[in-house]
Amino acid sequence: MIPPIASRFVAGETPAAAFEHARRENEDDVKVILNLLGEHYHERAPADEDAATYESLVADIGGTDLDACVSVKPSQLGLDVGEGVFRENFGRVVEAGREHDVFVWCDMEDATTTGATLDAFEELAREHDGGVGLCVQANLRRTREDLDRLADVPGKLRLVKGAYDEDPEIAYTDKADVNEAYREGLELLFSRREGGIAVGSHDPAMISYAKELHAEHGAGFEVQMLMGVRPDAQRELAAEGVEVWQYAPYGDKWLSYFYRRVRERKENLLFALRAVVGV
Ligand code: FAD
Repeated sequence: MIPPIASRFVAGETPAAAFEHARRENEDDVKVILNLLGEHYHERAPADEDAATYESLVADIGGTDLDACVSVKPSQLGLDVGEGVFRENFGRVVEAGREHDVFVWCDMEDATTTGATLDAFEELAREHDGGVGLCVQANLRRTREDLDRLADVPGKLRLVKGAYDEDPEIAYTDKADVNEAYREGLELLFSRREGGIAVGSHDPAMISYAKELHAEHGAGFEVQMLMGVRPDAQRELAAEGVEVWQYAPYGDKWLSYFYRRVRERKENLLFALRAVVGV
């Protein structure tokens, strides 16, 4: 069982618990992106197994009236085993998404995987004319060119600041530079795309900037935040009429995910502790 301290960030261990969580969030107009926890498989079997789990998850979501979709990780679908394995498994999940009308996102992992992830996304997005979305990281110096390349690719793009420690040769490492690159990324997205823009950030300044760019260019956008982070802001934005999607992980591999949230921001532990002791 997930201890109360971690349950702020993780939707449960089973799909049933994750669906229950999604239903509660949907009541406040917050839509949910479900992620089965799992990554960096070095053998094919667990990657195939998670792909199969995603296929049935997508079918189950399609059979409900939930506002929910899924997000997969490349290394969970076999990228560390081989690019072909990842493409095959990613294709299976996207095909299931098309069949059941459930959107499929792909997270972005460290910079050694960016090229292969982008190639697989572009191929599937063009083949299916959308139905699939990709995360792009503002901290990577290559992202401006990647956004140029992806400008006319169907589907959605989620812009995040980037969660991985990268070499300064290929990435901005100073917070101010990353923020600047994020703003530039938003400008590129809003000026070139008609919609399908996801602002994957908890940063009030970036969300305000996205609203300004939307007013200027008209392109449709959504805000995405992690489960357990600024939950009040998620509800407030949804109440204002902004489309809000909450990324909610679930599954039995919750410990390392919880540890990552705490390491990245000490306040997360404080919030979680407060939730447990009720202050
Ligand atoms: P930060 O730059 O960390 O903080 C800016 C401001 O936001 C803070 O000053 C504060 O006002 C507010 N804020 C941030 N965190 C909190 C908090 N815990 N509590 C209260 N206020 C807070 N990264 C990847 O590399 N690959 C991915 O696939 C990926 N997917 C993601 C999906 C989603 C939906 C989200 C939200 C993030 C994802 N990330 C991913 C992580 C992302 O790259 C950042 O590491 C993470 O979002 C932190 O950056 P930030 O923009 O939220 O704000």
